Amino acid sequence: MLHFTEVLTLLDNNRYCSGQALVQRFNVTRATIHNCIAKIESLGISVELIRGLGYRLMQPVDLLNHAEIQSKLSSQAANKLADIQCLQEVDSTNRYAGELELPQPGEFSLVLAEMQTAGKGRRGRQWVSPYAANVYLSVLWPLQRPLHEAGILSPMLAISMLTALGQLDVSGLSLKWPNDIYCHNKKLAGLLIESSGEINGGCKMIIGMGVNVLMSQFENVNIDQQWTDMYSYTQDWQHSRNDVVAKLVDSTVSTLIQFENNTFEGLVEIWSQWDLMKDKHVELHSGQFVQAGVARGIDSDGCLLLETSKGVEKISVGDISLRARV
Ligand code: ATP
Repeated sequence: MLHFTEVLTLLDNNRYCSGQALVQRFNVTRATIHNCIAKIESLGISVELIRGLGYRLMQPVDLLNHAEIQSKLSSQAANKLADIQCLQEVDSTNRYAGELELPQPGEFSLVLAEMQTAGKGRRGRQWVSPYAANVYLSVLWPLQRPLHEAGILSPMLAISMLTALGQLDVSGLSLKWPNDIYCHNKKLAGLLIESSGEINGGCKMIIGMGVNVLMSQFENVNIDQQWTDMYSYTQDWQHSRNDVVAKLVDSTVSTLIQFENNTFEGLVEIWSQWDLMKDKHVELHSGQFVQAGVARGIDSDGCLLLETSKGVEKISVGDISLRARV
């Protein structure tokens, strides 16, 4: 059966492609082509149809390509890549990566998807993941240090994501404890680290990243807080989503190696440089419970330092959401 992506890859925003040409190319009926176009439109990609001319995409569509991604990786990351899978659609890249075989120590596997139908956020929340709009990736990494030392990976990897996005010229970046990247005060990207122990003592780290790249160009995006994408805050956008993936993976692998070798330095100071909430009045939400205070950065364990009338409390990542006080 004809998959809609076969039609999508033939469509362009600069020229029309006739329905008849598609029928002949794939040896299918008009109705099949019509169904593929309807599926493409249902994914938020607008297609123009002009009688006598054919179909044209209203905006360019930038698809993932695993060969291109591999060719753009740094030699450090490329040498450690055990497996790469580029899926069209998956419930969650983290869920999928968690079921893969663990690579050898020092190597990693990479799962990417054009869309997630049940992208995971923290605490069972959903990460909105429309088709071909953003980057959704999971790195599967065999942890070599004890699991209880891995809490610090969340701020370390958030910093490394921010660094990668900065290298792609996104302006106005900041970090929101514990795992979000903001851009001009709107949510741009999130990180979800999950782990599972193995009977033989090895531990799977699954590092999931969602980065909004071109989402502002797509229709029907419904998110219950302010968000933005890289495209909106990068002057003269020239990057492909493959570029974004390669930069994120390079930066992640380099940070994971520093974590394993215990050579990552300056966590508290680097965080402070990018801290969205630094010295602001904030609220910590945990279920019905709300605690107010002033955010004073993080400590070397990655805990949030919250100043209240009782002094400075260390808050560890858990069932907590940090919000600016309004
Ligand atoms: P927060 O602290 O912002 O409440 P969180 O850290 O508890 O979030 P996350 O896993 O970071 O939870 O993100 C899930 C939330 O992020 C969703 O409930 C939604 O509000 C928002 N969101 C979902 N998809 C996107 C997206 N693509 N871009 C930006 N924000 C999103």
